Amino acid sequence: MDIHCRRCGECCRHTSPTLHYQDIELIHRGVVSVKDLYTLRPGQRVYDNIRQRPSYLEDELIKVKERPGTRQCIFYNPLSASCSIYQQRPAQCRVFFCERPELLKGLFSQKKPTRQDIINDAEMLKIIDAHNRRVDMKAFVRKVESLRGEIDEALAELIRYDQHFRDFIHERLRIPRQELSFYFGRPLSEILKDYGLELEIRV
Ligand code: SF4
Ligand code: SF4
Repeated sequence: MDIHCRRCGECCRHTSPTLHYQDIELIHRGVVSVKDLYTLRPGQRVYDNIRQRPSYLEDELIKVKERPGTRQCIFYNPLSASCSIYQQRPAQCRVFFCERPELLKGLFSQKKPTRQDIINDAEMLKIIDAHNRRVDMKAFVRKVESLRGEIDEALAELIRYDQHFRDFIHERLRIPRQELSFYFGRPLSEILKDYGLELEIRV
């Protein structure tokens, strides 16, 4: 398939890959680290590239991060217009070819790994479970999408809780900040911005 690919990098500038089970070994081999990844939690609104419309996630997904403020994959090097892990790129990048998007359908229909498949630390998994229960993503998205005007106090409290939880984990457990969006998904304060809303969080 590569013989047809012009290696123009257009696809890498507009999206980053979702991890599949066959990509977990890239983490074990140190090609990709958890600081390069983030988690999308069930209930989050995403853009469905296959159906070409927004949808709500039913299952958790792990994705390679994009460069801040863009949709460009962090492994794409704009100076050399190339992938910095090309020889060991994730499965989605190996299968994807822009002129034959149907090739991705088989891979997309496969069950995807979750944080539980990657994290080998029972204590961290318990912390993630506690965060999932307290910061209910489906309820958060429902609430944000039903807002008429201002952010109410209950929503503001949940967003502040999410931020303070992350600060606590960083400070007490020494988890680097770059890894927090893998362990706990995107912060609620960032997801809020997707809806054109903002909340000032005082520390
Ligand atoms: S798959 Fe298409 S968009 Fe991506 S690098 Fe190849 S030619 Fe460019
Ligand atoms: S991992 Fe490499 S091939 Fe895949 S989207 Fe990123 S830059 Fe492109």
